Amino acid sequence: MLPYSTQFIEEDDIAAVVEILNGSHLTQGAKVEEFEEAIARYVGARYCVSFNSATSALHAAYASAGIGEDDEIITTPISFVATSNMAIALGAKPIFCDIKRDGNIDETLIEGLITPKTKAIVPVDFAGKPVAIEKIKEIAQKHNLLVIEDASHALGSAIDGKKIGSFSDMTIFSFHAIKPITTGEGGAVVTDNEAYANALRLFRSHGIMKKELWNSDMVSLGYNFRLTEFAAALGLSQLNKLDRFLQVREQIGRYYDERFSGHKLFTTISIDSNEQSARHLYPLLLNPELHCVKEEIFSELQSRGIGVQVHYKPIYQNSFYKERYGEQRLSTTEHFYRSEISIPCHQKMALENAVMVADVVLDVMEKYSHRGCSF
Ligand SMILES: *Cc1c(COP(=O)(O)O)cnc(C)c1O
Repeated sequence: MLPYSTQFIEEDDIAAVVEILNGSHLTQGAKVEEFEEAIARYVGARYCVSFNSATSALHAAYASAGIGEDDEIITTPISFVATSNMAIALGAKPIFCDIKRDGNIDETLIEGLITPKTKAIVPVDFAGKPVAIEKIKEIAQKHNLLVIEDASHALGSAIDGKKIGSFSDMTIFSFHAIKPITTGEGGAVVTDNEAYANALRLFRSHGIMKKELWNSDMVSLGYNFRLTEFAAALGLSQLNKLDRFLQVREQIGRYYDERFSGHKLFTTISIDSNEQSARHLYPLLLNPELHCVKEEIFSELQSRGIGVQVHYKPIYQNSFYKERYGEQRLSTTEHFYRSEISIPCHQKMALENAVMVADVVLDVMEKYSHRGCSF
């Protein structure tokens, strides 16, 4: 099975990890710092604070922004649950905003959801395609809100050559195995704000500040959300290859774009010419006449070796959310969920794999088109 996304680990990645394992220091130290500096430099932010996952990074970012009991954040339902879960973990309530046809939050609907309780707007660069960040920042400035961007899909994405990570008050990246680069598990927050960076570091490590000699002081409640030295060594080695990984995913994405262009049964998501997408996912959007056969299409693609997945079941459709907040239905979100299937797009693929995927996709779509759904 060709997976929709996967890690690409080479000999030099392994050597970098082994070197740390043969050394004396395994927990957060010099390599972590080096990795953080390299990420900050790459995206064009002043500070980077790494974590053992993007989930912990989101948790820390919300806490450092002072988000807590009875606050609200405005976010997208088309994301992994961690985006909103970590706000709930602090006592806040996620308010879900509908999306656009490209899977990103619809910035024109955000203002209507702002209340006196709103603290932050939390957009997600879906599949790696940048959100309308300048417009979102304008809304945030006007209403005195923070922008905390979940860019777990978007390390390497850019607008007019300016990298994601250099726009928002805080931006979160994931280094989970199948994200743009990996540390096994891992994540980071980047920011230009020194106070946030300090708060993030305290939250990551028990709220303890070092004083002199043996003396330290615990000044706030914190956790152990630290990255290991060998994870950071892997991350550094992977970061050196990010531009090569991005090139491969871009080549595959463009091939699919051309091959599927103008198809009568499904559409794809176009990337604007002034934007670069990390192409973490390659989503196909079935036209309504195929919605009723999506399960058959999904199963047949899998049985023919194409590792498809659906991103995402709207967060508000999960039991936990329904029990807490009741039933919700956002129309473009629902439509998107009925349409979306992600096909393989990753740095371990060669162009001939993409040709094979496209051949099978076109064949399967054609096969089910005759069934016809009423809608
Ligand atoms: C993967 C992902 C996360 C969680 O990342 P982890 O590193 O696995 O904790 C959060 N948000 C989005 C949008 C993701 O894709």
